[in-house]
Amino acid sequence: MTVAAATATAWRHRHLLDVDVLSPGEIGLVLNGALGMTEVVAGGSARTATLRGVGVTTLFYEASTRTRVSFEVAARRLGAEVVNVTAGASSVTKGESLLDTVRTLEALGARMLVIRHSGSGAPYLAAGQFGGSVVNAGDGRHAHPTQALLDLYTLWRHLAPDADPAGPFLAGRKVAILGDALHSRVARSNLWTLTSAGAAVWICGPATLIDGFGAWATGGIGGSRPFTVTTDLAAALADADAVMALRLQRERMTAGLLPSLAEYAARYGLTRDRLSTARPGALVLHPGPMNEGVEIAPDVANGPQSVVTEQVANGVAVRMAVLELLNAARIAP
Ligand code: ASP
Repeated sequence: MTVAAATATAWRHRHLLDVDVLSPGEIGLVLNGALGMTEVVAGGSARTATLRGVGVTTLFYEASTRTRVSFEVAARRLGAEVVNVTAGASSVTKGESLLDTVRTLEALGARMLVIRHSGSGAPYLAAGQFGGSVVNAGDGRHAHPTQALLDLYTLWRHLAPDADPAGPFLAGRKVAILGDALHSRVARSNLWTLTSAGAAVWICGPATLIDGFGAWATGGIGGSRPFTVTTDLAAALADADAVMALRLQRERMTAGLLPSLAEYAARYGLTRDRLSTARPGALVLHPGPMNEGVEIAPDVANGPQSVVTEQVANGVAVRMAVLELLNAARIAP
């Protein structure tokens, strides 16, 4: 296991609402922690149940498979007592507000609340009310911090496994993010973490789906880390070390942003031919769920360069690391 300089960094956060507040050292703490957790996940070594008896409640107002299940698996592996609440099957359907729900869950023993909501900012509202730790599991189009961290972890293990995860280990690497950036909390959070690790990030899609990113790119992430925005797929793919295809988020599209799915697939779908124009062996990522045949061809999604299944597995280790860091901050005097 890599012992990085990151271990000298202190973790400062009781909540994880976005990655924009994480220093490179704190990102390194998560990645190093996740590396240790992979041994636990693989069953290779015993680990103290650092969350033994801690009430972890998942509160999901939007559909999810991998994020919700991996938080549950992560919390259980650490010994937590896990309760899952799906808004559609709770008193939310009777009109209960988010804040009432949060207060109720806290009274029922929740000490860590993992929340997904269609409203950008909802986890911040919850964190203002909740006495324990709130983890954002995706809010609207705003942020998906643990997804960005697991993506970064996956890239670290493949592209720079011996490098310090708190350092610029993706310097000189190019990562292309393709598709529906407009509605993507994954793209927004990844922009922070990837540029923090030194990657050159290219956002590419039809003009209607990258709207607003151009202005952000010029100012740069955090006011200082520029990235590239283009509608030119060939330019985005050229020399890319990793390509992340995004799901077309039709549930968030309020206007006719695309002529048709077939046309989108024809012009921007990640096919084998297109992938062959990236760097040989370029990694293929997708946050899931995938629309195979739309943003990504089935043979690419399931091909030798795809690390999509690894991303899912890494999600458990990364979420274990995050829960452990937050819990320590929560109970710190
Ligand atoms: N699962 C990811 C999210 O919740 C990506 C997606 O749904 O397209 O944002």
